Amino acid sequence: MDYGTYFFTNIASVTVFTICIGVLAWHNRSVKGMTWFAIGQAVGLAKLILQGLEGKVPTVLSSMLANELYLISVSLQFMGLHWFVVRKPMKTRWPLVALTTVLAVYTAMFLARIPYGGNLMNIPFVAVCGTSALMLLRCGSGPFRGVSRATAVILFGEMSVAGYRAILTNLRYMRPWETVNAHTDPRWLYSLAGMAFLAAFMVMCDLWFLVTELQRELAEQARTDPLTGAMNRRAMEEAALRETARSIRFGYPLCMIMIDIDKFKHLNDTRGHAAGDYALKALVTEVKNLLRAQDLLARTGGEEFAVLLPDTPASSGVFAAERIRRAIEALEVPFEAGPIKFTISAGVAQLDPACGLEGMMRLADEAMYEAKEQGRNLVSARLTEAICPA
Ligand code: GH3
Ligand code: MG
Ligand code: MG
Repeated sequence: MDYGTYFFTNIASVTVFTICIGVLAWHNRSVKGMTWFAIGQAVGLAKLILQGLEGKVPTVLSSMLANELYLISVSLQFMGLHWFVVRKPMKTRWPLVALTTVLAVYTAMFLARIPYGGNLMNIPFVAVCGTSALMLLRCGSGPFRGVSRATAVILFGEMSVAGYRAILTNLRYMRPWETVNAHTDPRWLYSLAGMAFLAAFMVMCDLWFLVTELQRELAEQARTDPLTGAMNRRAMEEAALRETARSIRFGYPLCMIMIDIDKFKHLNDTRGHAAGDYALKALVTEVKNLLRAQDLLARTGGEEFAVLLPDTPASSGVFAAERIRRAIEALEVPFEAGPIKFTISAGVAQLDPACGLEGMMRLADEAMYEAKEQGRNLVSARLTEAICPA
């Protein structure tokens, strides 16, 4: 294999990969991690083309800029991986500051022809690969566990090959007393091919990340009420079954609040369906703000909601329900002609292991209807129930 042939075939395949990732990123623009991957891939291709033009363009382009683009490309890839597994914007700015500093110092060293300046690219490259791999191992959980582990392996591979090539460069090619042509050294060429091989696997992992994300979104959609963003009935029932089993096993109290908006039909009839929708969304936002992180809120019907409170006895459940009732009573939802106001009725029940989840739901429902009968805008509870509801 000669150097020229290697570059030609590599550029050809990386061009196809770049187009493929670019098209998929464009069609899935909401998956921001994919956009980072696509930009990183395009920067990587630009680096490869510049490197392939060695001898035909000034070394400032074929060597200096190419090396800089390589580091930028792996940093963009880090941003993509961060989006997928951390799922929060990066708070700290120091990586950007470090990258800019490294690029500036390397440029100065290259232009001043200071030897061993290439290490300023090699070492950060290895560091970014290592940081990415560790981040994947630490944060790649749930559906991203498999792809994160596979990608971490590729990144450790890239780290090793890049480290080996850095050692080769320092010990073998940078000898002022003799001229060594790296291009004819099989170790240089095969390690370069090794990098290309790993980069091809990396493209596969990029696609794997995309597929995993789309599957995650689909699963989430199947569990979410599209209007309010709260859990739907199915998701709540699954979660409630898990919580019930946990509660029975460890003896923790579990409690449920059933919520129904009062005279909602009247609100729809007088203010319009859109106003009703606004009210439903506002209720979910308000209630979520009042709940603890472990509490679950679901829209179980048109204007009906259920709240599951783990590790909570009914007495505290009543307290929580009363707090929700008062917050909704005070709520004014801004809407066209004037604020929308509405109230809720709520029923609270605690899990009785003898009656199970269904028993608790039925009791909470009964308590809620009791609140309706007693005049609405009330909280009613079934604190103790010796006999399971029929
Ligand atoms: P009550 O105080 O007894 O609960 O009376 P209500 O009017 O709230 O109860 P009812 O069951 O008679 O009416 C429920 C209404 O909820 C009827 C339906 O049009 C409305 N509804 C159900 N889903 C939606 C929705 O997604 N958006 C809007 N705007 N209205 C909805
Ligand atoms: Mg109802
Ligand atoms: Mg109602």
